[in-house]
Amino acid sequence: MISGSENIVVIGGGSTGTSIAYNLAVSGKKVSLIDRGTVASGNTGKSSALIRTHYSNPLIASMSIYSQKIISNFESIGYSGFTKTGMIFPFSEKYSDVAAENVRMLQELGANESVIKAEEIKQYFPDSEIDDFGFVAFEPDSGYADPVSTANSFASKAKELGAEILTGKAVESVESDGRGPFLKFKDGRMMRATKIVLATNVWTNDLLERSGISSNKRLPISASLHSVIYLKRPDVYRGIKPTLWDPPNLSYYKMEGETVTALGSLDPEIDAKPIDVHSVIPETAPDEYVEDYVGKIMKRLPGMKDAVPYATVTGLYDMTPDGQAIIDDLSPLGLDNVYVCAGLSGHGFKLSPAYGRIVSDMLNGIDPDSAKFNWKTFSADRFKTGKLIKSRYDEIGTIY
Ligand SMILES: Cc1cc2nc3c(=O)[nH]c(=O)nc-3n(C[C@H](O)[C@H](O)[C@H](O)COP(=O)(O)OP(=O)(O)OC[C@H]3O[C@@H](n4cnc5c(N)ncnc54)[C@H](O)[C@@H]3O)c2cc1C
Repeated sequence: MISGSENIVVIGGGSTGTSIAYNLAVSGKKVSLIDRGTVASGNTGKSSALIRTHYSNPLIASMSIYSQKIISNFESIGYSGFTKTGMIFPFSEKYSDVAAENVRMLQELGANESVIKAEEIKQYFPDSEIDDFGFVAFEPDSGYADPVSTANSFASKAKELGAEILTGKAVESVESDGRGPFLKFKDGRMMRATKIVLATNVWTNDLLERSGISSNKRLPISASLHSVIYLKRPDVYRGIKPTLWDPPNLSYYKMEGETVTALGSLDPEIDAKPIDVHSVIPETAPDEYVEDYVGKIMKRLPGMKDAVPYATVTGLYDMTPDGQAIIDDLSPLGLDNVYVCAGLSGHGFKLSPAYGRIVSDMLNGIDPDSAKFNWKTFSADRFKTGKLIKSRYDEIGTIY
């Protein structure tokens, strides 16, 4: 049942905003979800949507374990398209101890995580080059989902529970006065709310700028390009196969369906290289990038020399300095009762169930110390106080 006179507006209909709207609706809140395009028309629609629990920070790992359970058992919400393939995380000798320690931590947290011998990779990829692998972790329950279906299911379920979904409506600014927060649409109309949540990814600072927030007060979120290259696999690799992470080559190889491989970067030089969000965002990956990444997979899986690149997708990462989200209230910016969940740094799809839960708990006034996940860890002032969200894998690539 929808409770009280609260009307919460969530701006952004990607995996984050739709999960927030769903979680708030489940908690009985009246919600309006707004997007200037359609649901999942932003970065969510371009996502590789890999679902893993292998993280090296205990809080993020707990959030990924929680989220994976929801995305892989999604029937009560809708359709997530989750495909269980397994995932292989090999590390070079230099990082064997760090990775082994991490596997122990993940097992203690309840992740289905094991250690395999490098030779076992050959049962999936017979010609794989494995000599530089010193330690290999395996996650049998991981895989990938369909990000567009997932976000649409969150939105539809929220609607079923009483939420209003407003698409094709661009928000020009968000402000707050004595009567509470309000937003102005691009067409000049205004909408009041009791609380507003920004789930606007790389466009968050843009919205803050138009809302009159000076540059020194905006959030430490920058945009960077992330391209994924799709190849038709040669017959030798046909079939359902685990995703192979390749930290020594700073890349990942997602085995999609029985015949497609998607290549992406784990290189901080690429993933965190800032670009102006107002510049023309290329639709396709630069040629040199395609060459580089096809070269990398051929080093690991030599039979890929016969693969056929057939498409590329380029989206944006909303990067923060420690590669983790900012989840906070924006009252220090003069925006009372306005909240943000952005800066997901290119790995936010799999964590969307946890983000939704966190923001719902925060808006429902649950004490952060007794909440499922303590969102104080994600506060924006961590970049001033130095309490960054730590990863053991900083030197290894953008695995976190
Ligand atoms: C190529 C690529 C591959 C990725 N692979 C993975 C992966 O394998 N696993 C993983 O976990 N994550 C992955 N990610 C990251 C993940 O997809 C994102 O972190 C996540 O989907 C972001 O969701 P979001 O809702 O925060 O943002 P978005 O999906 O970008 O949604 C933001 C929405 O806000 C709307 N909006 C913005 N400003 C306004 C405004 N003023 N008015 C109205 N609406 C507005 C936009 O239209 C947009 O729909 C990948 C990302 C990319 C780009």
